[in-house]
Amino acid sequence: MKWSRAKIQQKWSYFRKQRETPSGNFTEFVVRTYYSIDRCCRELGGNRCPSELVSSRRIKDAVYDGIYPEPDHDYDGVIGDCKKHLTEMGYLHTEEDGSITVIDKPLDFLLPGEHEAYLARFGQEARRVDKTAVRVGVRCASCGGQLVLRSGRYGLFFGCERFPQCKTVRSVADVTYDMLETAGLRLYSVTRPCWKCMRDIEVMSYFPYLDLAEMEPELARPLEKLEVLRLSALPGLDERLCRRYVTLRERYSKKAGFSYVGNSCPHCGALQGSQMTLGKVYRDLREYAARGTLQEHVREILPVTEETLPREAWKKTVEYLFGGTLL
Ligand SMILES: [Zn+2]
Ligand SMILES: [Zn+2]
Repeated sequence: MKWSRAKIQQKWSYFRKQRETPSGNFTEFVVRTYYSIDRCCRELGGNRCPSELVSSRRIKDAVYDGIYPEPDHDYDGVIGDCKKHLTEMGYLHTEEDGSITVIDKPLDFLLPGEHEAYLARFGQEARRVDKTAVRVGVRCASCGGQLVLRSGRYGLFFGCERFPQCKTVRSVADVTYDMLETAGLRLYSVTRPCWKCMRDIEVMSYFPYLDLAEMEPELARPLEKLEVLRLSALPGLDERLCRRYVTLRERYSKKAGFSYVGNSCPHCGALQGSQMTLGKVYRDLREYAARGTLQEHVREILPVTEETLPREAWKKTVEYLFGGTLL
């Protein structure tokens, strides 16, 4: 529940006045609570963090540091109140049944220089993360800044380079989908001998990782988990490809107990065992990429749309590979 505008204004004036002539610790607790949460969010590269990380128990020491050696009162209630005030004044809110805490705007009742002083005090973690950030050529939709891939304890995220002014945070799945949506997804083709009749055949597959790594070489290492995405991994797209290319067929593997899509030989009809053949194709393509001749092996560029590859399907796949990311 949000307070009325009048009540917020009243509280704001009170807090502001307390900054000038402090008469109690409560405002200081509010400010420290805010910066404890802010630090945790910055550490993760955005404006969100798991609420568990900023529970009263965890941030108690940071909030009480230098005021009480050990609070002789119900600190849980005090920090809870600070969060409630911050929420009701619109500085933060929680999402997903309270499991995610989100910082919405900077504290604006501080005196000149106070913000910097608090950042210095609560900022070490954020600086440490900044060093590992990977800048990519993808732009922030709200301010036009560059998006930065950051890794926190909870996995990879894209944040805006202009944080804290811009609080845009996007998931790896969303940004990579945007990249593929813009460029299309390449269907690669490599000539290999059929394992059965030994005649040369064309083996095709998509490898979104190769597309992304070529578009943004800096992402090659952090996104390595996407290497496993190849024919058979994206069902909707596989179906379309089977309709389009007679050599691509869906088969049921009794041994493995599931269906998969594979390349078949146009001469003898033998299905090219999916994983082993595609593993070789992938290694060939990596080689071509290193030599700069990957383009020559692009059979066609598949449009990426809600119809061919729904965003949700891509997100589910990527999140699965990354072991479930926060955003
Ligand atoms: Zn931005
Ligand atoms: Zn054959």
